[in-house]
Amino acid sequence: MKKLDVISLGKIPSRSKCTRCKKRALIHLPSHHANFCEDCFLYYFQNAVRRAFKLFPLRKNIPLLVAVSGGKDSLAAWSILDELGYETMGIHINLGIDEFSAASKAAVEKFALSRNLSFEIVELKNILGITLPEIRKKTKRMICSVCGTIKRHLLNRLAFERGFNVVVTGHNLDDEASRLLGNIVRHKDQYLEKMYPYLPPIGDKIPAKIKPLFRVEAEEIRIYCQLKGIEYFSGACPFAKGATSHIFLEALQLLEAKMPGTKRDFLFNYIKSSSVPEPEKNYKNCRICDFPSYVDVCSLCSLKERLVSTQNSTPGERSNGKEMVSKS
Ligand code: AMP
Ligand code: ZN
Repeated sequence: MKKLDVISLGKIPSRSKCTRCKKRALIHLPSHHANFCEDCFLYYFQNAVRRAFKLFPLRKNIPLLVAVSGGKDSLAAWSILDELGYETMGIHINLGIDEFSAASKAAVEKFALSRNLSFEIVELKNILGITLPEIRKKTKRMICSVCGTIKRHLLNRLAFERGFNVVVTGHNLDDEASRLLGNIVRHKDQYLEKMYPYLPPIGDKIPAKIKPLFRVEAEEIRIYCQLKGIEYFSGACPFAKGATSHIFLEALQLLEAKMPGTKRDFLFNYIKSSSVPEPEKNYKNCRICDFPSYVDVCSLCSLKERLVSTQNSTPGERSNGKEMVSKS
């Protein structure tokens, strides 16, 4: 384990004692009103993931396909699941966004090789015949939403083809709390239903989704990565300009600074008052790929069709195929 040379969360009075073992504390978690030494922080972190799994109706030894972007969250998720003894395989989709994708892929490869974990890198160019920057040139739709659609659908397909029934993502407490706030403010009831950290499979082709890090904050994940020596890629996607999700997070951080614990309470109380979503029943199968879809042609297939016909069509003709799977 690497030694911490910085105290990452809040100010800690010198000679503070670890809330759990009474040794010298280095990490201050205001939202828990707790100080931890390094070992007890790791215990806390593992426990947060164990507690998350209590909400997932999964059999004990089910293999997990971990969707890894190369960032701190998904690498931390993969690391802790491996520590907890889960059978995992990492999967990374290389979107072909110049240096951003090259660095993301390199972080995934380096991490997996250093831990001897099995993984696969999937090239978007090989699957769709086109990279994300090329798609961006061809479509007038918001590229972040197109990218989200592509990643969701590809992860479903890749999991199905490789025999995995569960896909793991690295979404953390900050992601989920800010998304919850955004969905409430905008009255997005259809997304609120999908805020649970476990989503059941759809039919026998779309795997269940789990978010094992939903109980830990981004800063806590940074500390975990630092302690474990995880060299993640921290660059921002060059296409992600103008996203509004960070504004909701800023609002929550403001409340958090005044009232530590508010962010956790906001998310956890919402989750406590909801239950595992019912498996989706009202779906048909995409006429082209046969995967579950609400509409005749699924979002991925209609995107492919649009990409082929973009040159000839007008923006008004471009459909916005309704999503079968949850927004994440
Ligand atoms: P994002 O939507 O970029 O915040 O990513 C959310 C989660 O999706 C990450 O924590 C990963 O689990 C997964 N993910 C994002 N990008 C990729 C990628 N290129 N390949 C595989 N999984 C990804
Ligand atoms: Zn389809």
